[in-house]
Amino acid sequence: MTTDEPLGVPDRVVVVGGGLAGLRTLAELRGLGFAGELTWVGSETRPAYDRPPLSKELLSRAEPLWLAEDLGHDHLELADAVHLGRAASGIRRAGDALVLTTDEGELTADAVVAATGSVPVRPWPDAVALHNADDAAHLRDQVRPGRHVIVIGAGWIGAEVAGVAAAAGIRVTVLEAGSAPLWRQLGEATGERTREWYTTAGVELRTDVIVTDVAGGTVTLDDGTEVSGDVVLSAVGVRPATGWLADLAPTLASGHLPTDRAGRTSVPGLWAVGDIAVRETLHFGPVPGGHWFTALRDPALVAAGILGLPLPSTEPAPEVFSDQLGHHLEVLGRLVREGEPGTRRIFRAGETGWSELHLSGQRLVGAVVVDLPREVAAIRKLLRGESLPSLDLALAADPATPLRSAVLPT
Ligand SMILES: Cc1cc2nc3c(=O)[nH]c(=O)nc-3n(C[C@H](O)[C@H](O)[C@H](O)COP(=O)(O)OP(=O)(O)OC[C@H]3O[C@@H](n4cnc5c(N)ncnc54)[C@H](O)[C@@H]3O)c2cc1C
Repeated sequence: MTTDEPLGVPDRVVVVGGGLAGLRTLAELRGLGFAGELTWVGSETRPAYDRPPLSKELLSRAEPLWLAEDLGHDHLELADAVHLGRAASGIRRAGDALVLTTDEGELTADAVVAATGSVPVRPWPDAVALHNADDAAHLRDQVRPGRHVIVIGAGWIGAEVAGVAAAAGIRVTVLEAGSAPLWRQLGEATGERTREWYTTAGVELRTDVIVTDVAGGTVTLDDGTEVSGDVVLSAVGVRPATGWLADLAPTLASGHLPTDRAGRTSVPGLWAVGDIAVRETLHFGPVPGGHWFTALRDPALVAAGILGLPLPSTEPAPEVFSDQLGHHLEVLGRLVREGEPGTRRIFRAGETGWSELHLSGQRLVGAVVVDLPREVAAIRKLLRGESLPSLDLALAADPATPLRSAVLPT
């Protein structure tokens, strides 16, 4: 991506978005020595908290996990001004500066970091969503013993909520439009491997069912039949929260904001990080945000970019984790599509779980790993080098061989 970004370190930076990526950007900027004026704007009234526990600990954690405590970042020390409970509604250029419109006046900056995350897609107003701490409090109140919970969507969040509810002895039905759970995230064949988790957990999973309507606790399917329960959770995905950027970047604001490796957009002075961005990575092409590790790690690159510092020559591979239905699942790197020319998958059964290696030719490009923490650590290491490793296919297919021993010399 080429830009006519003015040279020099900005004096005033405004970070928009009060979540993980926003807080980490403040910390990384200060950590790298930024001494200018730093302002933080976030629409939620609460200080930053961690979202993954909202689903995994839905029934066991009443208070959010505060990121300040978990990461040791004090936003009041990091930023000169903190405006929580204040939403950005627009942004425009004024000379070399950017002017942010908020519901409580304007803020002027030399650089703006867009870290406003994502918003859940909500096709049915009667179904609840799970995205923020208020949603979690509401859902916790609804998901009680003796009730029947219907979850629409067997993706990350649907599977996690189904698992915690079922573990608490609550009846759960999951309705999935695709032919397998996690088909959008892992592909059908790999997603299918998780079907038995639902059976074991006592969750009724119905695939290939299209929801057309939700009214109260009743869900209507496209064959005209109905499924009735007490609470309906819609977990059918999110979209980037870009509405406030529409005037400045109309063509960008319709999806993830494309950035270079450092989080620089094509709009001078505008940077993007976390769920809202699709960042050019070292080995995996443009990777959309939407996952915790991205929001945790990428702010280091953004801060370096803003300050004009060199970027590291290596970076960790994209990584997604999920605890669902009694299993820990990790996705690393890039998964190859089913039938993608020149690619293959290698299945490795381990003692406590399994892994599936994704290769382009003989080169390891990604993996799905279930309940094998040592395999995760090995793959993380292999995918973060200056180049991706090639594997001896026979050795890689032997689960008794540690993965590092299957790496071919370069
Ligand atoms: C229930 C749940 C479970 C999850 N579990 C996992 C998991 O197991 N593994 C994983 O990898 N990822 C998980 N994720 C995803 C992960 O939490 C996100 O990728 C991460 O939080 C993204 O951080 P972010 O800072 O980019 O966005 P967010 O955390 O969404 O923060 C963005 C903030 O910006 C605010 N904002 C939005 N619009 C405006 C505006 N116009 N003005 C000002 N502020 C605004 C929002 O209110 C929000 O506070 C989960 C997400 C959820 C919801």
